[in-house]
Amino acid sequence: MNLKPKKQQLLGLLPNALVQTHGPRRGNVRFLSFDDGPHPEYTPRLLDLLAESGAHASFFVVGRKAELYPAVVERIVAEGHLLGNHSFWHHQFAQMSLHEQVAELDRTDEVLAAFDQCPLHRIRPPQGCLTMPLLLHLARRRRSVAYWSYDSLDYQHKSGAELAARMHKRPPIAGDIVLMHDDSDCAGEALSTLLPQWRASGHEFRALSPEAA
Ligand SMILES: [Zn+2]
Repeated sequence: MNLKPKKQQLLGLLPNALVQTHGPRRGNVRFLSFDDGPHPEYTPRLLDLLAESGAHASFFVVGRKAELYPAVVERIVAEGHLLGNHSFWHHQFAQMSLHEQVAELDRTDEVLAAFDQCPLHRIRPPQGCLTMPLLLHLARRRRSVAYWSYDSLDYQHKSGAELAARMHKRPPIAGDIVLMHDDSDCAGEALSTLLPQWRASGHEFRALSPEAA
């Protein structure tokens, strides 16, 4: 979900190793990221599109959905994308105790480890809600949060065509981490138009690294 610009700026002041908001600004790489999946229909369609375009991305999945659709998660890993931790139930962290928040993240790490054999994953809390106790907890454990610098606002758009037009007008720049969602077909529809154009312009799309930059 959207973050208020001021909060985004404040997060940008934190060390990149703790809260990453963008990748290297030099070069031609952008980082697509998808929250709230996996979805049994939309995520595979998106994976097909990424494969056709030679693009890689990061999927911040909901642990419970990963349990429900394991074949989709297997594909995400097998095709070279990054699996990220978007909590187990996608509840609002602001209304939970630190203990509950950490339990959500730990449970999801466990679920995801069965797929990618990594014990820990990049974290993106639901709605981007990073509470101060959680921030301190993660900093002490050197865990890395992955935010974004470009909010596609895909959840506000009714059609992929509308989203594509908007993103075409104001495309992500080098180093941007692009926030999108794979629990609807909006992002996939928009990217089916945009990705071929962007690739033709020489843009590369990579997964975030498993560790913070
Ligand atoms: Zn979410």
